[in-house]
Parts: sequence; C-alpha cells; structure tokens
Amino acid sequence: MTLDTAFTGYADPALHAEGLYIGGQWQAGRGIPVTDPSTGTTLAEVPDASIEDAMRAVDAAEAAAAGWRATPPRQRSEILRRWFTLMTERAEELALLISLENGKALADARGEVAYAAEFFRWYAEEATRIGGEFRHTPSGAHNILVDHEPIGIAVLITPWNFPAAMATRKIAPALAAGCTVILKPASETPLTAYAMARLGQEAGVPPGVVNVLTTSNPGPVTAAMLADPRVRKLSFTGSTGVGRILLAEAAKSVVNCSMELGGNAPFLVFDDADLSAALDGAMVAKMRNGGEACTAANRFYVQAGIHDAFVAGLTQRMSALKLGAGYDPETQCGPMITTKAVDKIDRLVSEAKARGARATTGGAPVDGSGYYYPPTVLENVPSDAALAHEEIFGPVAAIYRFETEEEAIRLANDTEYGLAAYVYSGDIMRAMRVGRGIETGMVGINRGLMSDPAAPFGGAKQSGLGREGGVIGILEFMEPKYFAVEF
Ligand code: NAD
Repeated sequence: MTLDTAFTGYADPALHAEGLYIGGQWQAGRGIPVTDPSTGTTLAEVPDASIEDAMRAVDAAEAAAAGWRATPPRQRSEILRRWFTLMTERAEELALLISLENGKALADARGEVAYAAEFFRWYAEEATRIGGEFRHTPSGAHNILVDHEPIGIAVLITPWNFPAAMATRKIAPALAAGCTVILKPASETPLTAYAMARLGQEAGVPPGVVNVLTTSNPGPVTAAMLADPRVRKLSFTGSTGVGRILLAEAAKSVVNCSMELGGNAPFLVFDDADLSAALDGAMVAKMRNGGEACTAANRFYVQAGIHDAFVAGLTQRMSALKLGAGYDPETQCGPMITTKAVDKIDRLVSEAKARGARATTGGAPVDGSGYYYPPTVLENVPSDAALAHEEIFGPVAAIYRFETEEEAIRLANDTEYGLAAYVYSGDIMRAMRVGRGIETGMVGINRGLMSDPAAPFGGAKQSGLGREGGVIGILEFMEPKYFAVEF
C-alpha cells in the first residue's frame, strides 16, 4: 500500500478532524505539523493551543461536570458502549491512521485499535458496578459508610507510542466514574486522538465532557491547567523524566496524580524453559510496536545452558522480519517515530558494541527516507552497558548470560524502573518464586504479552503511581468519602 492509498483512510470524513475540540465545538487551526515516519512527509497540521485555549477547555469541562456526574451510570455506560461499537466498526480506518502518523506495522495498529476499544467496553460494564463499603467500627458502637465520588475535572496527557489505547485507557474510566476530561495527546500523533473524539461525539458524549487540545508548549499549558483549582486530577502516561516534572507541578496545588512512566523490562529465560515458547514470547515482548512499548523487553537474561540456542533462534526470527512503511500490509517492523529516536538507538547500540557486544543481526541504522532501524540482536552485552539502564525503545534485543536464579533476580532488579518483567521456565514453582522476587508492577509468566483492559496495568519504583485498567482503574478517578453515620 502506498502513502496515497493509506491516506484515503485518514481522509475519511467520519474520522478526519484537525481542530481543537472544546465544549463540543471544533476549532480549526494550524501550527503543529504531523509527519509520516515511514517517509518523512508532512501529513497534516493541527492547531497549537495557547494557555487561553486550555483555560477555555477547563471552563467547558467545568460547565459539563455537574450534568455528567448526575447522568445515571447506566446512561454513561451506554454511551461508552456505543463508543466501543463505533471504534470497532471503524477499526480498519483507525488502524491505518495510527500506522500513518505513528509508523507502526498495520498488524500492530489493528491490535492497538482492538485493545483501545476494549477499554470502552470494559468501563461501560464497570460504570454500573461502582461499589461502596459498609462496616462496623471495631468497638461495635458506630458505623462506617464509604462512598466513591467522581474526583472532578481530569487532565489526561498521553504519549505517541499507543495513540489510541493510552487515551481510551484514561478517558473510559474517567467518564465511567463521572468525571469530565481534557486530553492532551502527543504532538507526534494527534490525528488519532481527534478522530476518536469525533467518534465520541457520534456516540453521544455531551459537549464539554471530553475536550482535546494539541500544543507545542505542553509545560506552561499543563501548569496553567493544574494551577486552576477546578482541576483535581492529572493522569499522565509518558517518560519518567517528564513524569517527575509534572509531579512537582501538581504538588503546587496538591492535584491527585496517576503516573504511567517508563520501563526497562527484564526477560528471564531459564535452562528448563520451552525454547520455542520462549522465542515466541520474546518476539512479542520485544517487537510489538517495533520495540516502542513501555513493556518492551529491554534486557534478555538467558541462563548459560540455553543461551546459545536462544541467541541463534532469536537471530533467525529477528533477521526474517520485513522492515517497511507501517501501512504496507507486508511490513512486520515499521519505522521509529523520529530521527531522534533512531539516533538514540544508534548511540546505545554503538556504545554496547564498543564495549564488546556483538550484533548477530542488524546493528546499524538504515539509510534513506523514513526513520528506520533494523531488527537487531546483540550478544555478549556487558551488564553495565548504557542500554541495560536506559529504555532502548526500538527493535534491539540485548542478551546477557546468567548462571544462577539469585543472579538473575539481582540483575533484573538492577534498575530504577519497575514496570514489567517476563519469566520463562518449565518449573512453575520457580517461575512464581522468581516473579515474586522481581520488583515490578506486572510479571508475565511464560507469556510475552500482558496488556489486558481487565487487568491492573502499572509500575512500581520509578515506573509510576497508580494503576490503569481492571476493577481498580476506575478508583483513580474517584475520591472516597467516609460518612460516620449514627443510626
Ligand atoms: P514524553 O514523556 O516525552 O511525552 C509524553 C507526553 O507528555 C506527550 O503528550 C508530551 O507532549 C507531554 N509532555 C512533554 N513534556 C511535557 C511537560 N513539560 N509538561 C506537560 N506535558 C509534557 O514521552 P513519549 O516520548 O511521548 O513516550 C514514550 C515514553 O512513554 C516512554 O518512556 C514509555 O516507556 C512511556 N510509556 C509508558 C507507558 C506506561 O503505561 N507506563 C505507556 C506508554 C508509554
């Protein structure tokens, strides 16, 4: 498929939207170019919101707040469910749009749309099941009644690597809880966010309940919104560095924060693992989204007895992948998001190679238009190489050898991050023991893919605060209120 053919999906009038979406109105504008990373061509331009625009979005969210909070859960649920249906009906066009602006392979984009839509279905179901609590005090003399109320206006900030799913993972629980929101998508991938807002409008989301704005000035614009006392929640997904800045900003007015931050996932393979299953899992854990995932396996620790067979198997699978434009159906690995991303991968791989690592496939950027880095396997990587401590965020599998279970756990935990980990072993007792020893919010046991709207997603250590998805995800957008009731 060429860019022109792919572009017709994007130009679909039902999805095509390039204006700020505030209070149910579309406001056209320009200022932020959106690039196709497969070719380096400019696809579109979206508006560059000012602080005044952001304050209008807060006004709109405030104007809609009381009505949305009072909307019966069943009705909120039905609107979310319609949004799920519309996304599912438009799945192919949305997938094309994601491939166009993000570069990921169509198969990955299709997977993302299904995953993203599922948050609307899941929270359509959860909207009608918001629980409370009743108990007696230990003395038996009094009663404790706990209600959950919508926390208030929520600012949602999302990254470019899952432009649909990172937005729905926040919008769906927020709306189910009864909150109104302002979404600020990443400037690299705003078209998907605007297209989804179109579908939300069609699904019957009232004006002002969901507002979307793009800005090239995210620091001051976000700071202004967080300083407004009407804003009570910040839900951020992105890098740990930006997360730290936003936590400090939110502290000024003590805004409640959920933080989904960076990762540095270890992937442990023990001698007793099923080699073929471990290789299947490794390919998913490494190559979903071309390695541009927070849960991407960043460090492969492989026990000495299975090490050489694992390196050979992974090299064979990685070298067989077809690199190309995301929207070409033959493509298995698309481009990276920017040249800056390619430069970072190149720096990390070059540093590792200079220190003794050997590329068994790939290992250098690809020349030409588009932001390509080939699938790469590195063996003999020293455990203090920079890529053992930084997110690679690309199609590079760095393999380290280990001898004992204790050593594997120690190496896995040798990072400030704690998002996800993977353990492959034929001995479930060992796999669970190792899983318990690893300091992360999520562990895949003999599985290379863990994301599921019904499961609590999130990190320990500097990978984040709070959880998205699952039964508890809705509580991130609710404030518990305790009533001491005498009766
Ligand atoms: P990023 O931190 O650069 O940007 C994320 C978002 O924050 C974007 O919308 C960006 O415009 C905005 N932003 C940047 N500076 C800001 C500021 N000063 N104030 C307010 N907003 C600001 O991250 P990215 O490069 O878009 O995404 C990749 C990162 O996201 C990786 O670290 C990845 O691990 C992480 N991520 C985490 C999860 C998770 O669930 N834990 C999921 C996906 C991505």
